[in-house]
Amino acid sequence: AQEGILRRQSARESAARTYARALPIVPVRARGLTIEGADGSRYLDCLSGAGTLALGHNHPVVLEAIRKVLDSGAPLHVLDLATPVKDAFTTELFRTLPPGLAGRARVQFCGPAGTDAVEAALKLVRTATGRNGILAFTGAYHGMTEGALAASGGAPDVRVTRLPYPQDYRCPFGVGGERGAELAARWTQSLLDDTKSGVTSPAGMILEPVQGEGGVIPARDDWMRRIREITAARSIPLIADEVQTGVGRTGTFWAVEHSGVTPDVMVMSKAIGGSLPLAVVVYRDDLDVWEPGAHAGTFRGNQIAMAAGAATLAYVRENGLAERAAALGNRMIGRLRALESDFACVGEVRGRGLMIGVEFVDPEKPSATPGGPPSAAPELAAAVQRECLRRGLIVELGGRHADVVRLLPPLTITDEQATAVLDRLADAVAEVAK
Ligand code: PMP
Repeated sequence: AQEGILRRQSARESAARTYARALPIVPVRARGLTIEGADGSRYLDCLSGAGTLALGHNHPVVLEAIRKVLDSGAPLHVLDLATPVKDAFTTELFRTLPPGLAGRARVQFCGPAGTDAVEAALKLVRTATGRNGILAFTGAYHGMTEGALAASGGAPDVRVTRLPYPQDYRCPFGVGGERGAELAARWTQSLLDDTKSGVTSPAGMILEPVQGEGGVIPARDDWMRRIREITAARSIPLIADEVQTGVGRTGTFWAVEHSGVTPDVMVMSKAIGGSLPLAVVVYRDDLDVWEPGAHAGTFRGNQIAMAAGAATLAYVRENGLAERAAALGNRMIGRLRALESDFACVGEVRGRGLMIGVEFVDPEKPSATPGGPPSAAPELAAAVQRECLRRGLIVELGGRHADVVRLLPPLTITDEQATAVLDRLADAVAEVAK
């Protein structure tokens, strides 16, 4: 059955298929960290629906919440009408907000994907400020629609200016650390001060507190605070895209909590729907300048996703899963760091909580920048991904050059499972480095 399904789908589906190319499996059952294929093969799933499954596959509390809605006779489609399910979700979501937003937040239900919420956030700040330009960062990923794409470094209509996102390993200023972050912040400041730059009064700035698709690059807390100062001083709304970093993944409930920065707008999706499609924008009440219907959409009221999401948010909060992600993530990153010295092809291991990346380089190929790290090695990263799959481990690729193997395990992963994941990954790296 597996071969037939794979053959038919690859013949019928768009050439834009992505995950299905690198992961030729046919999942038929899943629980927690484990996925079972139609051919009986079993995998440890550290892709987690691209970081969606905070509680892993089919967690009992999520299934129970879904069943409860189905059995209650509640309508499944209600546009954006108020319902008890939505009320419970909103209450649970507001419980999790960073202190600076709690008590004065508005939520806008968008739908159904992260991209939709990014669009809504960009439109919101343009409406609220009456200005047009958006500041975004190199290596960012915000989604697939035109506005989100522009902010991700694509093209179209919204005028987006991209600023250097500080990173240690491939620091745009060649120094890394606190100094590199300071230089990146100054770059932003001088652009805003320069009357000839054309972006002295943008509508907003959007950033990921940890870049995900861009290759797992955590923002330094000092840089986040500098960026907040700079944007606050100029009344530029700061949008935190927490689509991938939210719901405990990085070791705090929301990743902005690491720096203590309060954004004006937060974009949330993925894990907030407990594995089903749900996306919202949360923002400070004074930014609520919309006319009724200014931003609509048929699918803004997914009752099942809200129920699954509320159960997930509550479970993460009540069981301290963010703290668990911080502690286990530190141990996993610590162990993976050994790979940096053991293998010349491992460039940098980095991450925050259970958002972990291993960057691959070609030690034979000199750096593009003098004195910098060796060139990126996307072919090695892809080979490691294939070797992982052969060993029953599903990982994602990311990074500016598709040179980063990414781990996004569920927050419920046990210590033993984490060890198994690291063993398989280390074996795969050893095999490829041979
Ligand atoms: N923002 C970030 C930070 C993301 O990681 C993603 C998806 N990987 C998106 C936005 C877009 O979300 P979606 O794919 O649900 O449209």
